[in-house]
Amino acid sequence: MSNIVDELKTILEPGKLAVDETTLARYAVDQAPVVDYQLPLAVVWAETVEDVQAVVGACAKHGAPIVARGAGTGVSGGAHASPGCIVLSLERMNRILALNPDDETAVVEPGVINADLNDAAAVHGLMYAPDPASFRTSTLGGNVATNAGGLRCAKYGVTRDSVLALDVVLADGSLIHTGHQTFKGVAGYDLTGLFVGSEGTLGIVVGATLRLKYLPREVHTIAAFYPDFRSAAAGVLAVGKARVQPAIMELLDGGSLHQLDEIHGSDLSSRGASLLLIQTDGFGAAAEADVVREVLAAGGATVTTEASAEAEQLVELRRNSRGVEVDDEYRVGEDVAVPRSRLVDYIGELEAMAVAHGVQLKVVAHAGDGNLHPTFWVDRVDHQVDADAMQRLGECLDRSITVALAMGGTITGEHGIGQYKLRWLGLEQPEPVRELQRRIKHLFDPAGILNPGKAI
Ligand SMILES: Cc1cc2nc3c(=O)[nH]c(=O)nc-3n(C[C@H](O)[C@H](O)[C@H](O)COP(=O)(O)OP(=O)(O)OC[C@H]3O[C@@H](n4cnc5c(N)ncnc54)[C@H](O)[C@@H]3O)c2cc1C
Repeated sequence: MSNIVDELKTILEPGKLAVDETTLARYAVDQAPVVDYQLPLAVVWAETVEDVQAVVGACAKHGAPIVARGAGTGVSGGAHASPGCIVLSLERMNRILALNPDDETAVVEPGVINADLNDAAAVHGLMYAPDPASFRTSTLGGNVATNAGGLRCAKYGVTRDSVLALDVVLADGSLIHTGHQTFKGVAGYDLTGLFVGSEGTLGIVVGATLRLKYLPREVHTIAAFYPDFRSAAAGVLAVGKARVQPAIMELLDGGSLHQLDEIHGSDLSSRGASLLLIQTDGFGAAAEADVVREVLAAGGATVTTEASAEAEQLVELRRNSRGVEVDDEYRVGEDVAVPRSRLVDYIGELEAMAVAHGVQLKVVAHAGDGNLHPTFWVDRVDHQVDADAMQRLGECLDRSITVALAMGGTITGEHGIGQYKLRWLGLEQPEPVRELQRRIKHLFDPAGILNPGKAI
């Protein structure tokens, strides 16, 4: 066969492969900044495990790189096309194969949308806990590959904590099953855990057994407005000291409140310079909410007094607060995490660096697990490129990373390294650790065809 695309055309049924420019461009990038724009040679849509095996087998024969793709909502460039690659879309493998209420598990194909599993589980009084803000669009395969986190992770853990078993197509086209159908299981190395978060560089996830949790009977949401951002961050620690474990603890600064006001016509910024949103759940939700209100009010907050519908709407607004930025700004931002005890210090540092560099700052944070999304930005003046402003933004971004690391944090709490954050990985992981990961990659993918240039 002369080339990989010709061979794929003979293997796949009609409608499962495209080479037209519009499709190639649509599947060339995810939602991250583009560092090195490449068009794939072809996009293929697998509909069965056998399709994936056939595609990977053909790519292995031709040495063609493969970029697995779920919904393309990644924000680190993990699904950006690599030079000369085939983009392997899993979006059509979107069946929930089993829902086992007594076992509290579900077996899914990789292209199932996170929200669809939650809808199906809710019928049985269950939920799939990891809820990235993209839960209405991102796939479970993509969530597994990025070890996605979300709002409820403060209480229920990240994706890795909910993955029991995986079906994975390896770089030679063979299929393996890792893990177990039970919550417990310690036989051998934890290969399931290794695949979670590996960003398509070790194998293609074609099936997953996921742990479900009971849907809480009661949910209470508290909105606490603060006169400044640092006191709001201190509220997070105060709740912990009161021994309450909220399901959600989200923090928004004044810049984020202003932005929501502009978009939704709300009046949040007139009510405080920062907002802490807390949700308690379960049979003790009301009692826990009382304690939270008391503790936050003692820390200077103006707190909603009832289990308010408004507070719940605010959580929805928070879920949607990403990806709504207006066009006429220069923006840079990341998803660092710091130990929770350093949250207040880190926010102070962010504010100081924005002032020192003459840029604006807005921050939203999954404060319950110390994961922050700071965005530095400047207004674009007369649509001119302002090289000085760009440089100041870049300096702020780099500094926000190094300060987080100095506090014992990480460069990425949930979005993954992808392509975009490779430049900072060496700051976090020493060379022997990186070399060990290269050797693991080589063991799984000796020819280096699985998502090259990403994650490690
Ligand atoms: C508005 C918005 C909000 C977001 N909020 C959050 C959030 O709260 N928390 C969070 O963690 N992330 C968030 N993200 C980022 C993104 O949604 C997650 O990383 C998500 O898990 C990606 O899923 P996807 O299906 O879009 O995967 P893609 O973007 O298609 O792929 C992501 C990575 O996974 C690999 N991959 C995809 N499917 C497979 C597979 N079956 N086998 C092997 N590798 C695969 C890809 O090669 C790529 O490296 C958000 C993004 C947006 C746009």
